[in-house]
Amino acid sequence: MTVKIFLNEDEIPRQWYNIAADMPTPMQPPLHPGTGQPIGPEDLAPVFPMNLIEQEVSQERWIDIPDEVLDKLLIWRPSPLYRAVKLEQHLQCPVKIYYKNEGVSPAGSHKPNTAIPQVYYNKVFGIKRISTETGAGQWGSALSFACNQFGLEAKVYMVRISFEQKPYRRLMMNTWGATCIPSPSTETEAGRSILAKDPNSPGSLGIAISEAVEDAVTSEAQGRPSTRYSLGSVLNHVMLHQTIIGLEAKKQLKIAGDYPDIVIGCAGGGSNFAGCAFPFLADKIAGKEIQVIAAEPFSCPTMTKGIFAYDFGDTVQMTPLLPMHTLGHSFIPAPIHAGGLRYHGMAPLVSQLILDGLIEPRAIHQLETFNAGVTWARTEGFISAPETNHALAAVIQEAKKAKEEGKEKTILVNWSGHGLVDLAAYDAFFQGKLTDYEMPQDEINEALKALEGFPKPKM
Ligand SMILES: *Cc1c(COP(=O)(O)O)cnc(C)c1O
Repeated sequence: MTVKIFLNEDEIPRQWYNIAADMPTPMQPPLHPGTGQPIGPEDLAPVFPMNLIEQEVSQERWIDIPDEVLDKLLIWRPSPLYRAVKLEQHLQCPVKIYYKNEGVSPAGSHKPNTAIPQVYYNKVFGIKRISTETGAGQWGSALSFACNQFGLEAKVYMVRISFEQKPYRRLMMNTWGATCIPSPSTETEAGRSILAKDPNSPGSLGIAISEAVEDAVTSEAQGRPSTRYSLGSVLNHVMLHQTIIGLEAKKQLKIAGDYPDIVIGCAGGGSNFAGCAFPFLADKIAGKEIQVIAAEPFSCPTMTKGIFAYDFGDTVQMTPLLPMHTLGHSFIPAPIHAGGLRYHGMAPLVSQLILDGLIEPRAIHQLETFNAGVTWARTEGFISAPETNHALAAVIQEAKKAKEEGKEKTILVNWSGHGLVDLAAYDAFFQGKLTDYEMPQDEINEALKALEGFPKPKM
């Protein structure tokens, strides 16, 4: 029986797939928060290099992957596609389960798939230094790795509570030569203003984004090497870079002689899910019957309980307004262990496809995710990131549903990363310290009040 399918290096996809070209409903533009008018590329120029801004707004269906980018992606790509045979035998359900292993990258997740091209485009644009934020450190470590590969400086603002509690990803960043400081910091206006109000602030992703953006836009004036900001999820060009996952998976499934009935991923900002699902959604838009599920935590239910609205990407309100599913930019989710899924917004592309009925969002409880992760480790062997466990829980739900309905199903899941730096979360689970936490509706309503008076997107 086939257990894993590798592609040769020369079979790596040479183009990314841009779903913007095939959207059934056209995307609504980001707005300038001051004027309420659509922003133009020049508004973003202090923050991102123009070549990435062009990708952000591109309507081209296929975009060439530069050779220099392919050269770096080949360090770990094409990634293997596995058949989860041991899990199938354990579940005894009429399903075939395939998973794309994105844990084989140097940083251990899908995130280097976009870190590498983002740093490359900055480099060819003449940028010498990149600022970014990180929560638990997955994105900071991916960007540090990519900056090191291309010889750029990296400055990472890491949410303070994670900086103190989770040293290992910070040490990965340092090993790749990056500077990582706790946020809020005294190095930016945004950080200083938060610390003035609360010297013991644990920080949040929204605050760290504000600091990293400020770092980029003030670098020239402050005599630092030319700097731009980089975001690891949510934006269109990030979804684009991640489509290499689904494009490879399609080729691999073809070799296996299969095609999925169901595609599943976990969604924080939406990028690993989109990367796996968008190439299959292209077929769904063209009429193919296929179910596409995005799994999120009940404690940060952006897609299932948030509203589709224009909102800021950050807490200090420095970013443009994006049309997306959101819990409000001031929302601070419960400290669950899936740090990568604790973001108040969702990628605009994913949000629009939910509205169009092409993507099915699903919230999952924390204990169910860890149970799924432990079942996975004790069958397939690999230890998954807590984020990834949300997708695995959805896989098990669908397998059981197939059995109840007496239908045979083929499932593809994106295994977004390994959990070898997250074992403290497994420890807490084994010690019975984790609980299920569902965001109460009145707290959600309260957080959404922050959006009163904002421009509304068309529904
Ligand atoms: C960051 C992360 C996620 C969530 O981010 P997306 O942009 O939604 O993919 C999921 N899984 C892993 C392993 C991550 O590191």
